[in-house]
Amino acid sequence: MISAETKLIALIGNPVRHSLSPLIQNYFIKKYLLDVVYLAFEFEEEDLEEAFNGAKKLGFLGLNVTMPYKNAVFKLVDRPDDVSKIIKSVNTVKFDKENKISEGYNTDVKGFISSLDEKSFKWKQSSCLVIGAGGAARGAIYGLLKKEVKDIWVYNRTVEKIHNIIKDLKNEGSGRIHILNNINDLDDKIDGIDLILNCTPLGMDTGEDTTGARTLSYKDIMPVPDSWNLGDKFVFDMVYKPSETLLLKKAKKEGAVIIKGIDLLISQAAYSFEIWTGITPDAECIEEIKRKVLINIENMENNELKY
Ligand code: NAP
Repeated sequence: MISAETKLIALIGNPVRHSLSPLIQNYFIKKYLLDVVYLAFEFEEEDLEEAFNGAKKLGFLGLNVTMPYKNAVFKLVDRPDDVSKIIKSVNTVKFDKENKISEGYNTDVKGFISSLDEKSFKWKQSSCLVIGAGGAARGAIYGLLKKEVKDIWVYNRTVEKIHNIIKDLKNEGSGRIHILNNINDLDDKIDGIDLILNCTPLGMDTGEDTTGARTLSYKDIMPVPDSWNLGDKFVFDMVYKPSETLLLKKAKKEGAVIIKGIDLLISQAAYSFEIWTGITPDAECIEEIKRKVLINIENMENNELKY
């Protein structure tokens, strides 16, 4: 029951209306019988600093931060942890009311690593392809470097962003980062790639309308060329809606090990929950919430026009 003692954790971002984080975090809260609620708040960037300081002053337990505020919140926290300092992105804040301190964390990186560890990916000396160079790609590339992969090929439509990542992560491991100007430049090396990672929203739109008629071309929904055989690879799609993108469908059909965006979504959420509460959600709890999230995503897909 909500009382004067109830603590608050907030998700901030824009948009957050259809975020699955409230479903996941309130499930954890209920499961572990905590006197806490988790709510989502959507506002414009000009109000971010005031909202952040308000949450701190009001004694919120913490925050989750989503797009597009992860970098701005990194600049607002008093104590960013080592990972968030390097990738300049905070997705979890813990407020220490007594000392009036805000601590910043990035659990996306830990979630990314554990999602691949769960599938027994062999990191060392592997060759990886990262598509995208936004916040998610930056965290993933940092994770790959820390796990001592050998080569990281990066493709992004805006190439400058890859240069920025290389500049910021140049001291983070011995792995070599290569820039691809065109995804097809990898055609003759694709057999040697162990992991393909989609860090763009390509695939969120299925490219079909409700009658099944095609509305977008293949290259507008697929991050990789159709000619590539993905059979012997690990293929990780950060997109979680739909839960199985066209990229993952192709990869699965060809025999690849696939890692879904939903795995990362739940894993990073579990790490955030641990930061605020000290409780690590157990395996049974993780499986149960994954099932609930999948049902929720399917319902969203069936009511596509509303979302
Ligand atoms: P971001 O910082 O905005 O970066 C977006 C990236 O996607 C950029 O590299 C951008 O290229 C590229 N991109 C956007 N639209 C594109 C298009 N139509 N064609 C080709 N490239 C396009 O976003 P982010 O935080 O990195 O997130 C990227 C994706 O990962 C999103 O779909 C997000 O929902 C998902 N994600 C999922 C999880 C999870 O828990 N599963 C966690 C984080 C992110 P330019 O640089 O050229 O603009």
